Amino acid sequence: MKARKFLQNRWLNQKTPEEKKQNVWVCVNHPECEHAVFAIPGGTMPLGTMADNRTRFVRHQAHLLMNALWKNPGEGFQLVGYSWRESRKRAYLWLSTEMGLAEAECHFGMFNEAQCVKAMSIIQKKIFSGQPPIQEPGHKKPIAEA
Ligand SMILES: [Zn+2]
Repeated sequence: MKARKFLQNRWLNQKTPEEKKQNVWVCVNHPECEHAVFAIPGGTMPLGTMADNRTRFVRHQAHLLMNALWKNPGEGFQLVGYSWRESRKRAYLWLSTEMGLAEAECHFGMFNEAQCVKAMSIIQKKIFSGQPPIQEPGHKKPIAEA
C-alpha cells in the first residue's frame, strides 16, 4: 500500500447504495492493490484509514450493528431533548469506554478487523443483555419511557 489517489467510486466490491454515492481514495497501485478508504459523501475527506476489501467489509458490518443499537429508542441512547448527533455521540462514548479506547480513536473507519469483531461482540451483548437502557444523570429520560 503506497500513497493514495482519488477516484470516483465505480469499481469497489460490496457496494451498498450509500457507498455508490461516495468517492473513494485508492492505492496508487490500484487496481492491483485493493487498499482503499471511502470519502465523506459529496466530498474528499477520507472517513478513516486505507484498508483491504475484507477489513472494509467487516467495518461496514460493525457500523451497521452500531447503527441498529443507537438508533433503537429502547436502548436508551436517544433521549428526549437530544438531537440525533448527541444521541450518536453518547453511543460512541459508551462504545469507546467498552473498547478501552479514547473517544477520538473510536471510529469504525479506523478499526482493524479484530477491533471490529470486538466491537460487534460488545454491541451484541448490549442488544441482548436485557439490561435497562443507559441513563443520563438529570431529568432527561429515554424516549421509550417518555
Ligand atoms: Zn497498496
